[in-house]
Amino acid sequence: MREQVLGIDVGGTTVKWAVLDARTATVVVRGSIPTADDPHTVAAELAAVAETAAGGDTAAIGVGVPGHVDRRTGIVRFVPNLRGDWPGFPLAATLRASTGRPVTVLNDARAFCLAEWVLGAARGHDDALFLTLGTGVGGGVVSGGSLLTGPDDRLGEIGHLVHDRTGPRCGCGHRGCLETYASATAIARAAGLPTAEAAFEAATSDPAASEAVAAAGRAVGETIASLCAVLPADLLVIGGGVAAGLPQLRPHIEHALAERRDFIGAVDVVAARLGADAGAVGAALAATRIMTTDGGGRELDWASA
Ligand SMILES: [Zn+2]
Repeated sequence: MREQVLGIDVGGTTVKWAVLDARTATVVVRGSIPTADDPHTVAAELAAVAETAAGGDTAAIGVGVPGHVDRRTGIVRFVPNLRGDWPGFPLAATLRASTGRPVTVLNDARAFCLAEWVLGAARGHDDALFLTLGTGVGGGVVSGGSLLTGPDDRLGEIGHLVHDRTGPRCGCGHRGCLETYASATAIARAAGLPTAEAAFEAATSDPAASEAVAAAGRAVGETIASLCAVLPADLLVIGGGVAAGLPQLRPHIEHALAERRDFIGAVDVVAARLGADAGAVGAALAATRIMTTDGGGRELDWASA
């Protein structure tokens, strides 16, 4: 019986993949390729990865994409950051036809959440919030022991909660979303430096860099505190490229949360554990969940995985 599941994370510039052993929930092989310019080429390259990655012995395939997707049909809906004509592209059906494997397609931030919830920093928590701080700010919500997905897998976009409606213009078309304060791009811009890493490095000596880091941390803490008035959570998991600066962001995040503690309770702030693999691992986990209905496999025992 095949036990290997392929998880793929389609990003704006790079496609990362990981083969997960479903018995041990460990990554057995991983790799990456540049993201092609159109969905047909991407799908063909993913099929090639499926044939070679696990020695052709892949039981199921999960694919995370940076946008909205219909999880029932695997049709991509809204993908602002990939080149090519993606809306309406039947990614699951195309990949299923070329590989003969069951395929599930999901949002990449939801894939990150699933991985960190099932195997990473939020393991065992029924109520947790997730942020990926990178070029943009992705998010996710586990509430009452379920990962929120919603129509087109689009719920959980904490990065697009409005922090200040008079703030900078956001990629989503609105103003002052959390993303415009806490993304790598936003921190670098506010610090007047080329990268967020440079801002974190300069933060101890340069006032503009210090304020950019503080503003990012405050925006995260205040947004999460507001969210916790609606959704109970005792854990905030932070991943993504900017998470390397978490030691400097953390005091500002925790200060903002502490100001609302009487109202929302205590929220621990922790770093994501699965690193750059999280998106691919989460996509693989999503695929293992369809094996019972679509691929004749079995569902993992998550509690003991
Ligand atoms: Zn936005």
